Amino acid sequence: MTSFTSPLTALTFDLDDTLWDNHGVMVATESGHYDWLDDATARLDIQRERMSERFPLSAYQERRQQVAQREPLRRGDFTWIRQQSLLEMLREYGLRPQDAEDYAAAAMEQFMIFRHQLTPYPEVEAMLDELGQRYALAAITNGNVQITRLPLARHFPIAIAAGELLAPKPDARPFLAALARLGSTPSQAMHVGDSWREDVLPALRLGMRVAWIDKHDEHRGDMPAGVFRLTHIRELPALLTHLK
Ligand SMILES: [Mg+2]
Repeated sequence: MTSFTSPLTALTFDLDDTLWDNHGVMVATESGHYDWLDDATARLDIQRERMSERFPLSAYQERRQQVAQREPLRRGDFTWIRQQSLLEMLREYGLRPQDAEDYAAAAMEQFMIFRHQLTPYPEVEAMLDELGQRYALAAITNGNVQITRLPLARHFPIAIAAGELLAPKPDARPFLAALARLGSTPSQAMHVGDSWREDVLPALRLGMRVAWIDKHDEHRGDMPAGVFRLTHIRELPALLTHLK
């Protein structure tokens, strides 16, 4: 039984839906890059039917599920799954192999531009400034945000992209990689995240404390020892003060 008495010296953060609201970002990103591709391929004039008529957005989503099932080792690498799905659909739409490759890659560049048009919660910048003076900080994300493309990157010299490691959370490996680079034992560290399955359970299993951002108001009854339920990231500094 972990007693959780060590002083906390390190904090690890999930990103999507922990430091910003990601739903609107993903909706805009999903339609934004696919509309871009639809317009770009229409200009090639190789089919009477537009790409989006042959493959509506729902077909693209289904294709991603098929690709993920076919390639279980890549299941966490969402960028690869998207690009592979686009490539297959572009070939079926009639593009020559090299053109299909080029347009799939260009669509993913558009995807990444939209994906990084995000706004952290207003409290986040000042909070991380403050916490960075007292704790070692790291980011652990399953998402395909490249933290170096965000102004927030300055707070996170250590950032683990779990999807690209092919070991997405709840796998323990991204947590262990972050702790190793922080020079922290699990008992000296707290993980902060919104997903019960991908953030809370794996961190707790390692013996970390967890601040669970219960974004969807799931509650889940009494919290296990070491897990603290918050409703918003802005409540984190008060929790840390209280734990001292
Ligand atoms: Mg999250």
